[in-house]
Amino acid sequence: MKCIICKNSKHEIIWFDKLRSGKNIFTNNRYKIYRCSVCELVFLKKPIIDYENNNDLFRKKFDGQSSIKKYLEFHKPRELKKLKKILKYLNFDKKHILESNCGYGVILDLFMNKCKTTSGVDHLVYKNSLIERGHQYFSNINNIILTKKTFDIVLCLSELEHKKNPIVFLKKIKKILKKNGKLIIRVPNFNNIYRYVIGYDFLKFDYRTSHNFYFSEKNLDILFRKINFKILNKMGYNEYSINHLFHYFRSKKRATEIKSKKLFKNLENKRFIKNIEEQKVSTSLIYILKNG
Ligand SMILES: [Zn+2]
Repeated sequence: MKCIICKNSKHEIIWFDKLRSGKNIFTNNRYKIYRCSVCELVFLKKPIIDYENNNDLFRKKFDGQSSIKKYLEFHKPRELKKLKKILKYLNFDKKHILESNCGYGVILDLFMNKCKTTSGVDHLVYKNSLIERGHQYFSNINNIILTKKTFDIVLCLSELEHKKNPIVFLKKIKKILKKNGKLIIRVPNFNNIYRYVIGYDFLKFDYRTSHNFYFSEKNLDILFRKINFKILNKMGYNEYSINHLFHYFRSKKRATEIKSKKLFKNLENKRFIKNIEEQKVSTSLIYILKNG
């Protein structure tokens, strides 16, 4: 078995246990998770369930249900927070943008007036509502390639880890990006402070059937360069507050941000998160890539 990123066959088994298979449920079977000894990519041998072509099934399993209302409730605050961070680095004026895995299109809505066109890729369930609000809809990337349409900016904020083959996926994205076009990609960071501090009690919830890969800076750098993306910027991005981290540590259970006891002042939290992000031990990494 070769690592898909660095092609090395040296790896070790770092997990042989149940995986989380939904909001708060686990598999009956135990599964092995491997780590490449060279680039540190963490991976399953093969996908357990094909969520790649079924976002609807994925959201039902992991969000509880797959409705537009649910999507908004759960994802809107998270998506908007993510966006604020990205906005600082990019100019969206009069651009043709596409969001892959866009869901209801919360982010696309925000760009409606700034961008020339806003397009989204997702499950059919979101089609009518996206079109009604003036966005272009595509059911998958292959269909866009067929139309020969290209974009100035592609946003991909929550899907690389779900792909069967991230290299194939990124090559497709390249085809729909204009020359010098930008790809903004967010990826969960395996080397995050939750894993370092909480250990097993974090991993038993973090390892899940929907993730085929667990990336970190080292292997992402190799991956993007391999496909000829120029890394313009990379940054740590932490989804939760320091209160959330300590609540999780104490209770040994995943909880929402709202349920976490407020132990620290806002300014302390800001300082803490800034350092976590600067050191890239945040829960996610965001890369801004140029199609070179
Ligand atoms: Zn590797």
